[in-house]
Formats: sequence, structure tokens, C-alpha cells
Amino acid sequence: MLIMNDNANLIIKTKYAQEYKDGYPLLTRESILDLQSTPNEGTIVNLIDEKKQFIAKAYYGIQNRGYGWILTTKKSESIDLTFFTTKIKEALKYRENFFTNKETTAFRVFNGEGDGIGGLSIDYFDGYYMITWYSVGIYELKNYILEALKNSVEYKGIYQKKRFDAKGKYLDDEADFICGEEAPKPILVKENGVNFAIYLDDGAMVGVFLDQRCVRQTLRDKYSKDKTILNTFSYTGAFSVFASLGGAKKTTSVDLAKRSLPKTTEQFKINSINIDEQEIVVDDVFNYFKYAVRNKFLFDVVVLDPPSFARSKKITFSASKDYVKLLKEAIQITNENGVIVASTNSANFGMMTFRGFITQAFKELKFKFKIEERFSLPKDFRVNSNFEEANYLKVIFIRKLK
Ligand code: SAH
Repeated sequence: MLIMNDNANLIIKTKYAQEYKDGYPLLTRESILDLQSTPNEGTIVNLIDEKKQFIAKAYYGIQNRGYGWILTTKKSESIDLTFFTTKIKEALKYRENFFTNKETTAFRVFNGEGDGIGGLSIDYFDGYYMITWYSVGIYELKNYILEALKNSVEYKGIYQKKRFDAKGKYLDDEADFICGEEAPKPILVKENGVNFAIYLDDGAMVGVFLDQRCVRQTLRDKYSKDKTILNTFSYTGAFSVFASLGGAKKTTSVDLAKRSLPKTTEQFKINSINIDEQEIVVDDVFNYFKYAVRNKFLFDVVVLDPPSFARSKKITFSASKDYVKLLKEAIQITNENGVIVASTNSANFGMMTFRGFITQAFKELKFKFKIEERFSLPKDFRVNSNFEEANYLKVIFIRKLK
């Protein structure tokens, strides 16, 4: 039986108490009255107000966003194996339809505070589960969460990623494999009928970003037929694969990382796409833009999916500062009536600001545009209505007009 210390108190400044009572899930640094005597990572704490009245129960765990996450506002609710099992079962129920869909075998089954436990996510890859721990604190609760998961699902194997430090960087100090059988390298999963090669134990990333599922599907089904596609920041070429299967005339994938060449080739191959008709360029995107402008290249569709922050040898890119510049580069090499798929996962600005970047970029180059589609996170990336800032994904399909 797992035993848990459920006694520590943490005093919350009066002005923050009501927000927590109303369901705000993140334990913030500034709300804690006395930062000198904080508990150990992973401790379950009672948040109390300055008059010692109960507010909520949380776990203490420092990560980039704050100092822990609220687990319940009910004083009578114990934080024990039953608690974690209930949360995981609820999360599975919410995604019931995903499990029965044979065309898509990779999706998120637990999305942090959206499913009631911040700092934790669980992804599903055709029978294998990948747990990501976002703080030492949540990792201290590993035994409960693992037990709860094992009690709730049939699994082939369970893996983990640790992303503890302030920037969520991947920590490679122990094996990613936890239990069950080891996954093939790679596992082939499906997304809307398309194959993806997934490596569960090969560094920080597994080969696909699941949150873009609906965007890939839309690109394939509505924007690719007979088109030329430029996919920038292409990683394993997921957008190129979908575009190609949607009937694209040609795809060009550009990424700085050397691994993107073999990785993208592999994704094409497992989907029986003729590689000779695709171009894979290992280069800095900003170099490539210069080259494309010089050679008067024009594309029907340009996909922009940069990281929120990146430093290469020559340039530092920050989505909040440089997205307008990026858009202007793209506009210059997009055909009239062509489409730019502008995406960002930056949590530093919202949809309105992002739209503002688009308006500014087109205005500065004196082109008109029309917004065709907009996407935020898909259903399996469940968002807590009291924590909309976690809805980081913003994707806009923009048609370039005269
Ligand atoms: N669009 C991808 C995910 C992008 S991840 C997908 O849908 O799967 C971000 C990628 O940007 C990484 O592969 C990284 O190597 C690449 N990258 C970062 N800075 C870059 C730059 N200046 N030029 C080209 N690629 C860059």
C-alpha cells in the first residue's frame, strides 16, 4: 500500500485564495506567503488562507510555470491511489472514441491540468504509453501514477520522458522504458490512415507532434492536390507526407537538423511515397528563403511551423519577436492565391496577437489576404477552462490575395 504525507500546510496570500477556490489550477510562486519554509518536491500540501481556512490540496513541484498544481478543492478528498486512478479513468473515458478508431492509433490520453493533474501528460502509441513528467515533484508521485495507469489500461509497454528543468528540457539520466515489453524501433502508428515511425526511446522527441493532427488532415484533404508545397521547420516531414498523400505535385522540406534528412526519408518510405519527387533540404530556413527569392521560386502552399524559440549559428528566432519577419519572407515566395499555413506553439501570446502579426506582415508588403481556417488544440489535448493559457497552439491558413 502506498502511504502519503498529507499534512503539510502552505499559506496562501489572502488576495489569491478566491482564485484557487474558483478552480485556478496552478500554484504560483507569488501566491505563497512564506517562501522560506516550503515543503519537499512531491509533498501533498493543504493550501490554507491567512486565517487558516482550507482552500485546496495541491502537490508541490517546481517547474517553469509555477510551484505545483492544485489537485482538489474538496477537503474530504484524499490524494491516494484511488484519486489518481479515478483521474486516469476519467481521462480514458473522455477519449473513448479515439481508442476505437483504427485509422488513428496515436493520441494524447492525459493532458496535465486539463485532465486534473498538472505537470503530467500521457500519450498513446498503438498499445504503448508514454508518460512525461514535468517536475521532480510529479516524478516523486510516479509510483501512484504508474500503478493507477496499470490498473486502468491494457498496455504493451510503458515509457517515460523527464522534462524537469525550467525550460522543460529533456533529462536523459535513466532509461525511458519502464515496464511491459519494449517497443519495436520504430513502432508504426497511424494518423488518419497515414503511417508514422515512432521511436519511444531515442531522445527528447518521438517523431511526431500529435497536437497538429487536424492541421495535417486539413492540409492533405483541402489544400494539397496538384500543389507545390514548401514545409519549413519540417522536423520529420509530417506535413510533407500528408501533403504528398493529398496529391501534391512536389514537396520541399527544410530543416536545419541533419537528422531531418533520414527521418523525413523514412516517413516517405513507410507511406510508399516516391522520394525522387520530393526535395529534402538541410539548411537554415532563413538561408533557404534568400535562396528561393534569388531564384524566383514560388510555392502554392508554404507551411511555417517554427519552434517558439531557436538559436542557430547565425540567427536567434523568437516567435513573439520575429514572426512578422518570418511571414514576410514566406509571403514573397507564395503564389498569388496561394496559402500560408502559419503555426505557432508559443504560449507567450494569444490568437489575437498572432492575427495581428499576419495583418502587419501583409500590410507591410502591400498584399491583401483572407483567413481560410483556424486551429487550436485538438480534443485529446484537453484544456482546463480555468487555465486557458495552456491552449498554446495557434494555426491559421491564410490565402494571399493581390
Ligand atoms: N513542423 C514540424 C515540427 C517542427 S519542430 C512537424 O510538424 O513535425 C522545430 C524544428 O525546427 C526542429 O526540427 C528544428 O531542427 C528546426 N529548426 C529550428 N531552427 C531552425 C532554423 N533556423 N532553420 C531550419 N530549421 C530550424
